[in-house]
Amino acid sequence: MTYQRVALIGLGLIASSMAHAMRAHGLAGEIVGYAKSPETRAVAKDLFCDRVTKSAAEAVKGADLVVLAVPVGVMGEIAAEIGPHLKAGATVTDVGSVKRAVVDAVTPHLPEGVHFIPGHPMAGTEYSGPRSGFATLYQNRWWLLTPAETCDPQALARLRGLIEGMGAKVDLLDVAHHDLVVAVVSHVPHAIAYTMVGVADHMRRVSQSEVIKYSAAGFRDFTRIAASDPVMWRDVFLTNKEAVLDILGRFAEELFVLQRAIRMGDGEHLHAYFTRSRAIRRSIIEAGQDTAAPDFGRAPPPAERA
Ligand code: NAP
Repeated sequence: MTYQRVALIGLGLIASSMAHAMRAHGLAGEIVGYAKSPETRAVAKDLFCDRVTKSAAEAVKGADLVVLAVPVGVMGEIAAEIGPHLKAGATVTDVGSVKRAVVDAVTPHLPEGVHFIPGHPMAGTEYSGPRSGFATLYQNRWWLLTPAETCDPQALARLRGLIEGMGAKVDLLDVAHHDLVVAVVSHVPHAIAYTMVGVADHMRRVSQSEVIKYSAAGFRDFTRIAASDPVMWRDVFLTNKEAVLDILGRFAEELFVLQRAIRMGDGEHLHAYFTRSRAIRRSIIEAGQDTAAPDFGRAPPPAERA
């Protein structure tokens, strides 16, 4: 067991998957949970929490590890509420998709003697809520931590042990670098998916039914990403503004180059460009971060199965 008592604040996809994984691997003595709505708390009590409380302050009392698993925009107010109730020597971590904004919002509220180790599991699905979690979500996925230089090495090693115990791999990153990297690998791809789905939505000339009927041609994969939780993604774009705008600017430049190559009929450029992209896809598969199965390993629709 890595921690006697873990408090999960926010009980959605990320926290419920942590709870299932901690239970599966015997990493926590007791899992206490708090979320805003009584409905979510009731589901969590049924499915993965030993105990739920009616406030965040109550949930963190006596906890060795507190995990902030709420939308990024709420982290500061939760930290303000729990600050006075944290046990001396406890570790507080978060799972927010943006780090600078969370560090700035949370740090001022934590008392001396509490270790704050910001984190970000690089795993997720387009589903949310307390029923969406599963024990293997973090298996073989990266979990980024952005500790301050002054971070207590023992507290860090203990948290690392918990994360690795859930099957994930840990990397340590500087806060600003984290925010730039995730803008490239996650935030801007989501912005593009949202935009592409928006374009199709506005194309009144193409009937809705045709868009859906022929969606397996590529559009469908955008819609999966664009089905992600609106609150979470609103907060991501509000709080990682600088890095996202930087990468979006580069994206727009690339798009213009591609547009020009298409207009000029520059097949050589297009072929070379697409060949490089294919190599990136191959390296992601080789790194074990996706499957090489055709169509992302999706089972064919029942009618097409032999
Ligand atoms: P989620 O499934 O939508 O769950 C969010 C949880 O936060 C819900 O239990 C919700 O409670 C609770 N909550 C919201 N506002 C609250 C408040 N004011 N006080 C207390 N609880 C509140 O979200 P998630 O996907 O688990 O994401 C949680 C965090 O993980 C976010 O910061 C996100 O950036 C980060 N993250 C997400 C992913 C992903 O792919 N989903 C990946 C990596 C990191 P109710 O149900 O009662 O509303």
